[in-house]
Amino acid sequence: MKICHDCAKSSKPGYSRCQKCLDLHSAQERKYRKRDIEKYRIFMKRRGDERIDAGLCRSCGGLKDPDADEGYVDCVNCRLRLTRRI
Ligand SMILES: [Zn+2]
Ligand SMILES: [Zn+2]
Repeated sequence: MKICHDCAKSSKPGYSRCQKCLDLHSAQERKYRKRDIEKYRIFMKRRGDERIDAGLCRSCGGLKDPDADEGYVDCVNCRLRLTRRI
C-alpha cells in the first residue's frame, strides 16, 4: 500500500494520493488551469493585435511578404504550418 503524497495516509490503489486529496488536488488544478488559460488567451490576443498593428505575422512576429501575404494576418510559413496541423 502506497502512502498519500499530501497527508501520509494510505493512498488510493494506483494513485499517489488518497481519495480526499485527489479530489482536493483536481479541484485546485482545474481552477489554476482555467485561470492560466484565460491569462494565456489574453496575452496571445494582445500580442497578436500588436503584431497585426505593426504589420507583422500574427503567429511568429516575422515580416510578411507584401504580395503573398496581402490580406492575411499570418505569414505564408505560418499559414502552411497551421493548415498542415489540421
Ligand atoms: Zn491524502
Ligand atoms: Zn509567421
